Amino acid sequence: MPNMRMDKNPMPSQDPNVRNKNFEEVALGYTEEQAIDEAERCLNCKNHPCMDGCPVQISIPEFIQKIVEKDFEGAYQVINRSSSLPAVCGRVCPQERQCESKCVRGIKGEAVGIGRLERFVADWHNKNVTAAPEKPQPNGHKCAVIGCGPSGLACASDLAKKGYDVTIYEALHTPGGVLAYGIPEFRLPKAIVQKEVDGLKALGVKIETNVVIGKSITVDELFDEFGYESVFIGSGAGLPRFMNIPGENLNGVYSANEFLTRINLMKAFKEGSKTPIERPKKAVIVGGGNVAMDAARSAKRLGADVTIVYRRSMEELPARKEEVEHAIEEGIIFKLLNNPIEIVGEEGRVKAVRCQEMELSEPDESGRRSPVPVEGKINEIEADCFIVSIGTSPNPLIKSTTDGLDANNRGCLVADENGATTREGVFAGGDAVTGAATVILAMGAGKKAAAAMDEYIQSKQ
Ligand code: SF4
Ligand code: SF4
Repeated sequence: MPNMRMDKNPMPSQDPNVRNKNFEEVALGYTEEQAIDEAERCLNCKNHPCMDGCPVQISIPEFIQKIVEKDFEGAYQVINRSSSLPAVCGRVCPQERQCESKCVRGIKGEAVGIGRLERFVADWHNKNVTAAPEKPQPNGHKCAVIGCGPSGLACASDLAKKGYDVTIYEALHTPGGVLAYGIPEFRLPKAIVQKEVDGLKALGVKIETNVVIGKSITVDELFDEFGYESVFIGSGAGLPRFMNIPGENLNGVYSANEFLTRINLMKAFKEGSKTPIERPKKAVIVGGGNVAMDAARSAKRLGADVTIVYRRSMEELPARKEEVEHAIEEGIIFKLLNNPIEIVGEEGRVKAVRCQEMELSEPDESGRRSPVPVEGKINEIEADCFIVSIGTSPNPLIKSTTDGLDANNRGCLVADENGATTREGVFAGGDAVTGAATVILAMGAGKKAAAAMDEYIQSKQ
């Protein structure tokens, strides 16, 4: 008999007043008992609507039933058929908008905690199974992958499993892409990313760090001099947008990307780190997405009083509900319906942020309400740090150094649904194609492209 309790098992977490002073993981994960209890809430629906909400079509009821049977490794093997990064997706997937949004238990009560169960299974596997995966038989063909983020990791993993000789070229000194430089330790411990990377290396994938494709080596050279038969571009969307308001050149202004990279990748929060960061006393973050929440919560952990400024209301805030709740619990202030119009400086440093009060217009034809300024309503927030988190776009370097690659007017590479770009043999996926999106969508694109690259290479034999 399924467990018909309405609520999902709560996630054990660090106390908000303790965790807002450290960088350790906030959510602690289910125990075996909690995982089994939560798994028993699943009705094992024949038509499994939850799977329609998962971009990589994990066989959700199947893995959950394995948990009920206490076959945790069996559950892992079910997930592993479709996902290369379960420990990551179980933590950072916006489950409430994907698989869990389709779960029938969500009609009267809370959906089954699919993401939490996925995380439990992946963590159980990582803790208890140490045997390296078997190396596949080489098939004699070579592929290159540009970028070691979620799409590149997924693409490389699937190609390696088919026997390809795969090399990933990563511009930074550490593999993981946005998983390493973007998402903070307190949401995604870097040891987990490293474990996924180690799994890939065990399959025979080579990773060359500090190689900027388009500068150190061009895409043409990958084909002509290195002999790769197909190339995947998963270089992400790491180019930050700014607001173009007065004061953006002052000391103390950061893009969220730079701020998070200094903290996550360069460990600037640790004493003696070679890459320093000034510990702000009063930080203002503009933006309402997950990256804004990450920057705000990181600034809080550096000891700052933190205010998030967002030009719409709480209802329109695009960040995950869970992240917003965590931010509020940790003492972050939300100044909604406001938009920065000037960063006020003193002796070259940020002193305050001047904001325009906004209101939402009547809904337009699509039902969307736009923020419009309220005349004469200007206010100032005292600050010594201003972090811009209003989106990113793909870096144009690869496109500008590769003939035949088309991009759209947002700088995103043009590719079909299987990742084939406008240049023969070159495939692309993830944020480089869609603009900044989610880890799981990027991973799904990497997997699709790996299948298409295999088909492309085999069709030429
Ligand atoms: Fe849900 Fe994401 Fe896991 Fe798919 S990968 S089942 S969407 S948590
Ligand atoms: Fe289980 Fe919900 Fe999926 Fe049904 S929809 S199989 S209850 S997770």
